[in-house]
Amino acid sequence: MERLEIKSRKNKLYKEVEELSGQNLFGCYQCGTCSAGCPFIEDMDLTPDEVIRQVIMDNWEVLKSRTIWLCSSCYTCAERCPRDIDITKIMEALRQIILRLNIDKCDLSAIPMEKRKRIPQIAFVSAFRKNIG
Ligand code: SF4
Ligand code: SF4
Repeated sequence: MERLEIKSRKNKLYKEVEELSGQNLFGCYQCGTCSAGCPFIEDMDLTPDEVIRQVIMDNWEVLKSRTIWLCSSCYTCAERCPRDIDITKIMEALRQIILRLNIDKCDLSAIPMEKRKRIPQIAFVSAFRKNIG
């Protein structure tokens, strides 16, 4: 996410994420169960449990991670977490923080018309959902 300029802000990142997601990040004991079941783990640059750890450490650089956008909100991790942490909501909160910085991850107008015709409609729906989350 090269366009994203991250600066540490006054607020702690974990506080913003907790407020938006309603999840207790400090309940995570880093067991990795969420990552073990994630269907997109192979393409992620950080595993979901690593994302949580970075947020707790107040590392704003985590907002550059592809993982946040690759998450498909499938809820597998949320279903399996032994601490009942809804990681899906945490990913959504991180996307919201990025979008509130007025940064659009998906620039659909940049996709050539020819390619647009071949992209499944569900992919567009998914992209829009992430933009209005
Ligand atoms: S499954 Fe739950 S407790 Fe385990 S690492 Fe993931 S979020 Fe943390
Ligand atoms: S909700 Fe996101 S992070 Fe969790 S298993 Fe599904 S794709 Fe992976």
